[in-house]
Amino acid sequence: MNAETEGGVDPVPGGSTSVRPAEHITILLPGGLLAPEEMKIVVAVAARFDLTWYATTAQNLRLLGATPENVDAIKRMLKGSGFLLKEAGRFPKPKVCIGLPYCKLGLADTLALSDRIIERFGGRSGVKPKWKIALSGCPACCAGSKLVDVGVVATRKGFDVFAGGKGGLQPKTGKRIARGVNDDEVVEMIGRLADYHDAHTEKKQRMFKLLGREDFPFPVEDEQADAPAHR
Ligand code: SF4
Repeated sequence: MNAETEGGVDPVPGGSTSVRPAEHITILLPGGLLAPEEMKIVVAVAARFDLTWYATTAQNLRLLGATPENVDAIKRMLKGSGFLLKEAGRFPKPKVCIGLPYCKLGLADTLALSDRIIERFGGRSGVKPKWKIALSGCPACCAGSKLVDVGVVATRKGFDVFAGGKGGLQPKTGKRIARGVNDDEVVEMIGRLADYHDAHTEKKQRMFKLLGREDFPFPVEDEQADAPAHR
């Protein structure tokens, strides 16, 4: 397989940019999980259409090798098998660390919290890009919760919530907007942040641009998010 960037364009300075952008098919994996029966379907589809897949940093499967002629058929087949595909307007699926009960440092069941968030908001349509959610089961923050737009970190006193982080060319560390909240409050906060983002975004926007507004719905702590979280 040829090396390929997310955009399907040669990233080497001075290199060729004549490569045709690849067809986009990304299977969303809630919680980063793929059951054996689902895996069999992906393998069968990949074999039929001569595809391979890339495990994305967002814990999804990006299928590589589709053509303009077969991309719609592949999408239909995957949707018909019950897979969710990445599409414009979908609510952001949380990126999660493995958390309890699988990690010995875990303080919270991150997969269960991810399920709750997807169950509550997954049906929303027309969600404006581009903001991301991450859930970490302890302050080690393996899901990168301080480097996404809305990050949740479990502590011994409940969940801390961060907003305004991002990666990319100019990374930003998120700022803490709540300490020691419970899972119901986390879900509630995410809903309010989603509504606020939608109301104050024309087309697309990262959450950090909204933190400075007077009507931002939560207090933003001055300290940097990378200061030690309370345990
Ligand atoms: S963030 Fe904590 S609970 Fe989650 S995988 Fe890392 S060490 Fe384990």
